[in-house]
Amino acid sequence: MDSIKHWINGSYVPAGARTAPVTNPATGKVTGQVSLATEDEGNAAVAAAAAAFPAWRDTSLARRTQVLFAFRELLNARKGELAAILTAEHGKVLDDALGEVSRGQEVVEFACGIPHLLKGSFTENASTNVDVHSVRQALGPVAIISPFNFPAMVPMWFFPIALAAGNTVVLKPSEKDPSAANWLAELWKEAGLPDGVFNVLHGDKVAVDTLLTHPDIKAVSFVGSTPIAKYVYETATAHGKRVQALGGAKNHMIVLPDADLDLAADAAVNAGFGSAGERCMAISALLAVGPVADELVGKIAERTNALRTGDGSRGCDMGPLVTAAHRDKVAGYIDAGEAAGATLVVDGRTVTPDAEGDGFFVGPTLFDNVDTDMSIYRDEIFGPVLSVVRVDSYEQALHLINSNPYGNGTAIFTNDGGAARRFENEVEVGMVGINVPVPVPMAYYSFGGWKNSLFGDTHAHGTEGVGFFTRGKVVTTRWLDPSHGGINLGFPQNA
Ligand code: NAD
Repeated sequence: MDSIKHWINGSYVPAGARTAPVTNPATGKVTGQVSLATEDEGNAAVAAAAAAFPAWRDTSLARRTQVLFAFRELLNARKGELAAILTAEHGKVLDDALGEVSRGQEVVEFACGIPHLLKGSFTENASTNVDVHSVRQALGPVAIISPFNFPAMVPMWFFPIALAAGNTVVLKPSEKDPSAANWLAELWKEAGLPDGVFNVLHGDKVAVDTLLTHPDIKAVSFVGSTPIAKYVYETATAHGKRVQALGGAKNHMIVLPDADLDLAADAAVNAGFGSAGERCMAISALLAVGPVADELVGKIAERTNALRTGDGSRGCDMGPLVTAAHRDKVAGYIDAGEAAGATLVVDGRTVTPDAEGDGFFVGPTLFDNVDTDMSIYRDEIFGPVLSVVRVDSYEQALHLINSNPYGNGTAIFTNDGGAARRFENEVEVGMVGINVPVPVPMAYYSFGGWKNSLFGDTHAHGTEGVGFFTRGKVVTTRWLDPSHGGINLGFPQNA
């Protein structure tokens, strides 16, 4: 049984009285006990980050980037280890876990270019003999609070840039799959990061609240469900912090009558059931426009029935859900959809998984003829349940997306460039795919949704991430100017 402890100031802290079990969702077996921080332990993690900040902030960009490059090399060489941890605690299949690590690694690679990203500007002789330049400086200790569904990638959206810019970090990962964070902390140490610059604080609301209210934490990057994102945003901003809080999602995919239906069916299956639907960019509602529905549903059903569900370490297509409680919640939504009169085309409740023990499985599930007042359409299910809603027109489909409270990701499948261009312009969603079902932006663009999918105004990574983890300073300089003008109490004017 693993004891998963806090990592503070470069070493593990002995487990205290508060712990929670960690489970392998494919077998149902408890594999570890994770520490749940007390307020004192939270304060200790912040104190370590605060003590390490002055020296790390003043470490040259050349030295900071050496550490980042070393981290990137170690991560690249050993990512299989991290992927295995993800599969064992989250349940996603190994291939998918490797994909998660690779997408996180792209942000590390982006952050290796931090000297260029931090370059300020310089204006010579802005006023007579007066020069002006700008710099961007680190904020201080920052908190990153992450969800269960991407235990490696989501923290890596933030910490490579935060650290590269000279901040120190306290990461509070999900208590459901906490080991990836410790693996990453040890890797930082091996890469040469000084102790205290990157800390991992495990826990629940106590740990989160300590970080949100602590005066030494200068910024909070949060990813999780919408109610908690809103709470984090409101609490941390009330305590004077800069906050980006990414929330939940209900992503729609439109299929127009001219689309390639095989491509659309492949995409719907991949985006609906990948990672058992536990992705904030999963497609959950498919809007079939006009006459395509019968043929499209047939193609999706055929592909869905061919998927193999089971233990993610056995080469299956789809793994379990993260906990027994979440499995029951997802199964409850399927019950509700059936009771409400949607057509249950493929029923995941009857799946026989390829796994030992008592894992938390629901197979891929397909509903047709879903109405927009049903809970399977309205709620974020966060499971392998794909709902087909039949609509008459593009306008009707667009209206459904734009009136949805979430606005994380969306996609359109069509061969009509004009229709795609119109959709891209009109849709009120942060990340848009044209014949791409999971349009997760590259590290050098920024990731983020609109409406209830993001509280705050800065998206993750890319140049928005650099802006979030730094603050600007403008310096106006005059050297050796004999004509300074003497006493003049008027407001400075340029000449
Ligand atoms: P969650 O909101 O339950 O937990 C997220 C984090 O908040 C965890 O670290 C958890 O310990 C902490 N937390 C939970 N309850 C809390 C409370 N009452 N007070 C303070 N902290 C609390 O989310 P989850 O179930 O881990 O993750 C799934 C959710 O995350 C989904 O809604 C999904 O859409 C969303 N998500 C969004 C994005 C995005 O980019 N928008 C990405 C990934 C996941």
